[in-house]
Amino acid sequence: MQTHNQLAKWFTRLYARTINFSGVSREELYQAHGEKRTVFWIDAEDWSAAGQCTPFGTILLNENRLSEAPENVRDYVFLHEVGHTKPPALLSLASIVLRVPLVLLAGFGVPVLIGRWLGVALSFPTLGQFTTFTAVTLTTTLLITLPVIAIWWLDEGYAELFAVSKIGAMDYQRRHEEMLEHADRNLLSCAVRWLLYPNPKFVVWLAEKLDR
Ligand SMILES: [Zn+2]
Repeated sequence: MQTHNQLAKWFTRLYARTINFSGVSREELYQAHGEKRTVFWIDAEDWSAAGQCTPFGTILLNENRLSEAPENVRDYVFLHEVGHTKPPALLSLASIVLRVPLVLLAGFGVPVLIGRWLGVALSFPTLGQFTTFTAVTLTTTLLITLPVIAIWWLDEGYAELFAVSKIGAMDYQRRHEEMLEHADRNLLSCAVRWLLYPNPKFVVWLAEKLDR
């Protein structure tokens, strides 16, 4: 266990450098609502996220986004990331078995598909050829991207539910809104948030249904 922890820490420090060149700025034992974890702070201006659960099950927090955020917002981000480290068995299995290959496929395969579609579109095809090829490209792209979105959404939804279970629905909604004030709200990050994260109102509704 100790070796595993040391290895995870080592990989986290390395991984942090892929997000921000100077890597981890400090490490601390973070504690909130009965959860205690070592967190790795990085000061990454160009990174739109406030925090991330790394592939090694450790937690990165972004000083640049959170240094001026109130403590309860920082706690919320921390608890969301802790939620990612405790997924139900089925979700972690789907993440490992499906998400990694599908993300790779989406990252490399979809640009190739679009490139091929452009090639055909620019080669003066007949209307029939163009329609068929467009339909095939669109269907294949959706078949690759929709499962990625679904798994991502479930993963984020679970982390949000975990945060709700710790801080309660009312507090969750308030902190969520405050957190967005500290988030980078460019068009791309808004689109990503809309697509990959469940709406907080839905999370609260679901939490009530599940009695969390
Ligand atoms: Zn998350």
